[in-house]
Amino acid sequence: MREPVPGVFMLERTWGSNIYVSAGERPVIIDAGFPLDERRILKFLNGSAPRMLVATHYHIDHVGPMSRLKRRFGSAVAAHVCDAPVMEGTRPYEVYKLDLLRTAYYKALAPLYRYEHVGVDVKLEEGEVIDALGGLEVVHLPGHTDGSVALYQRERGILFTGDTIRNERGVLEGPPPQFSPGLEESFDGIRRKVLALDFDVLLPGHGEPLTRGARGAVEAMMRGYGRLD
Ligand SMILES: [Zn+2]
Ligand SMILES: [Zn+2]
Repeated sequence: MREPVPGVFMLERTWGSNIYVSAGERPVIIDAGFPLDERRILKFLNGSAPRMLVATHYHIDHVGPMSRLKRRFGSAVAAHVCDAPVMEGTRPYEVYKLDLLRTAYYKALAPLYRYEHVGVDVKLEEGEVIDALGGLEVVHLPGHTDGSVALYQRERGILFTGDTIRNERGVLEGPPPQFSPGLEESFDGIRRKVLALDFDVLLPGHGEPLTRGARGAVEAMMRGYGRLD
């Protein structure tokens, strides 16, 4: 088990997206991975019931097992007010234009992509503070989805970025273009809102955490997708 910053665990060997869990009795989970990641989460929790499941956005690789976890533990589910309708099934999941190869790939992995709707108990809005890790501020960064958010722990300088900023293969980058109808809007949000924050640690939805110098790395990324190493 990894603890990229004290008090925040990161589950290992997930199906491809990051799952963070706060330390303590009744933990808060930030993004829950693909549906098949449920087992790994249960193993990690080892009987303790999560108090809240927070989604950085509605995509299946971030909310996969939330409905099952909620049923089992009675946890509250939190997501931005603009993404909640998709999670609840009152607005359709965005349809992305993908090439044939990618379509075949997703079909082959169908069990990973079975979306289960879930009631959203806490509908988050800009500036709201979630009671976890001493206070997580909601930073609304639409673009990847309408309700994509980053979560900011101000005192400790920690930023959870979901898919709006990813760090795969040693490259810090914005959201995946083929799955981001509002790519420009995402970058605009990073420029105006993320770079206005003071943070040292970046915990992305995909790829490796950055545990120091994260704001500078985002600045470099905005100058043109800088390689970190
Ligand atoms: Zn996504
Ligand atoms: Zn993702």
